Amino acid sequence: MNVRHSISELSFDELHTKLEQWGHSRYRAGQLIGWLYKHNAVSFDLMSNLPKQLIAQLSEEYDCCSLSVVKTITSGEGTVKYLFQTVDGQYIEGVSMPDGDLRHTVCISTQIGCPWGCLFCASGKHGFVRNLSVGEIVDQVRLMSSNQPISNIVIMGGGEPLMNFKQLEAAYRIFTDDAAYAIGKRRVSVSTAGYVPGIEQLIRSDIRPQLAVSLHAPTDDKRSQVLPINHKYPINKLMETCKKYAQLSRRPVSFEYIVIPGFNNGDDDARALVKLLKKYPAKINLIPLNPVEGFSYRCPTEEEVYEFQSMLLSAGFVVTIRWSKGQDIGAACGQLRSAQSQSDL
Ligand code: SAH
Repeated sequence: MNVRHSISELSFDELHTKLEQWGHSRYRAGQLIGWLYKHNAVSFDLMSNLPKQLIAQLSEEYDCCSLSVVKTITSGEGTVKYLFQTVDGQYIEGVSMPDGDLRHTVCISTQIGCPWGCLFCASGKHGFVRNLSVGEIVDQVRLMSSNQPISNIVIMGGGEPLMNFKQLEAAYRIFTDDAAYAIGKRRVSVSTAGYVPGIEQLIRSDIRPQLAVSLHAPTDDKRSQVLPINHKYPINKLMETCKKYAQLSRRPVSFEYIVIPGFNNGDDDARALVKLLKKYPAKINLIPLNPVEGFSYRCPTEEEVYEFQSMLLSAGFVVTIRWSKGQDIGAACGQLRSAQSQSDL
């Protein structure tokens, strides 16, 4: 079968070459890029200043978008959760979080499923299916940009971004390119469960996103209980690699720490975390546990989160709290996709 590609699979160089091969002037590629990534057009027919012949050539060979929106759910506070479907019938999720007129953060996925199987996370519950293509990564942003321009992208949806490095790198270039989204290089964050070879690859590459690492526990013993990846890449190795990236990017790495009451929020945990992180350039981002099926711990109260935060603040760290947006619509990682897959069965 001859699989049709989406136009968003092509790099800007490839778009220029293609249009030249078809006999169009150079500036037409710039116009097309503008339609795709500034106006977020999802149909070639909308591209009113392109010649009819070019629109026909594009429609003949490519899809304009690699995803369709299956469902959106809007929370009371304006967070919109998107369920997308790929051409091969898989589901992925994205979340749009507008904050006033100035800020609009979107959270996007990089894989279908996830290989890590972290115990508290819905994304890996059904295992790993496949990597997303660059078009599928970028098209989540295109489809979520319709109402308000995007200021920040967090690559923290389904999957492990650093295991899909080539596509991640290509998407990052589109996000930061002035001809497309022109998002500040540090306003693109990449979160990893601690895949050390991926961080090393980031160090060797020339892209410099803000790095966020899912730490979630201060000792190997505890971390291995909830993040199986820790058996392979223990904390020491992870921290040394993060330090190199922090030096290179001249920005502290942000360490995510899910507050799981009765598991990792005691005084001893705070002390161990301080001891660990004080040797490194680090920020801490606390995440209250979101409820997830099959993980028996309860969610923390606000007081429990603030209490843990204050122990870290008094040690001199910058400690932010990521209050869950859209909890009322099940916006925790992988929940919507999980529900959809089950209803498909
Ligand atoms: N694989 C990457 C990115 C995806 S998860 C990673 O592990 O970092 C994005 C963040 O949400 C991670 O910090 C992850 O640990 C966290 N997360 C997953 N399930 C959660 C839950 N039930 N409650 C709170 N945070 C969760």
